[in-house]
Amino acid sequence: MYQRELSARAGGRHVRRRKSRLPFYAFVLAIIAFVLAFAFPEERPDKPSGQSLPVRTLSGTEDPVLPPVSQGVEPDIPASGPEDSWMLTLVNPWNPLPEDYACTLTSLSNGHSVDERCYPDLQAMLDACREAGLSPVICSSYRTREKQEKLFQNKVERLIAQGYSRENAKTEAAKTVALPGTSEHQLGLAVDIVDRSNQNLDRTQETTAVQQWLMAHSWEYGFILRYPDEKSETTGIIYEPWHYRYVGKEAAEEIYRQGVCLEEYLD
Ligand SMILES: [Zn+2]
Repeated sequence: MYQRELSARAGGRHVRRRKSRLPFYAFVLAIIAFVLAFAFPEERPDKPSGQSLPVRTLSGTEDPVLPPVSQGVEPDIPASGPEDSWMLTLVNPWNPLPEDYACTLTSLSNGHSVDERCYPDLQAMLDACREAGLSPVICSSYRTREKQEKLFQNKVERLIAQGYSRENAKTEAAKTVALPGTSEHQLGLAVDIVDRSNQNLDRTQETTAVQQWLMAHSWEYGFILRYPDEKSETTGIIYEPWHYRYVGKEAAEEIYRQGVCLEEYLD
């Protein structure tokens, strides 16, 4: 009988009907399915002759079999599945955000806001930095598409005032201000952090105590220095020793240890 059962399963997902099976057989089948924890025994034990019910009704009687079967399938799902993919979303000049991208924000005490999912780790990182006697200041965080558009246009206008043609100004502006739709700040997973003693967004930032600390420890909290020196060709963005991106602790540690950028890590 057992052998017949297996071959009936191997026969696929067809609902097979048998005559003269006793109801208790459903229970036996459930036990077998649970123990083996694989396949989908679609075979339905029939009601005694003369009491046959439509298959749909019968399937209802099989419900107790389903939970053990689905438990058997679960281990096949990768540990880092789609539920983690949000933290590795790639946004750069070649990978714009969907127009309708949305996330749930948490407001910080200084008026900034970030994706609520990275907030606890961000707070822990800043707390640890302060405990080290330093003064980190978040100067930029989540931005709406409109805000990014405004920043970009302002940059274009400043360049035009310096003598650039409008076309050249746009090309030049895109090197330092991401085109709307391609900024990680729209993700809600990026923050610009500076040292209270030097709030200039330029190369001098890397020498500050806050940056030295963040560059050494941000990975412990799931953040990476997103635009490292000498990776501009790959990231599409100039060196920014103030822009940190949340990617989760596992990826951040690997990116830090390998000395790669997010594009290289995801490649
Ligand atoms: Zn930034």
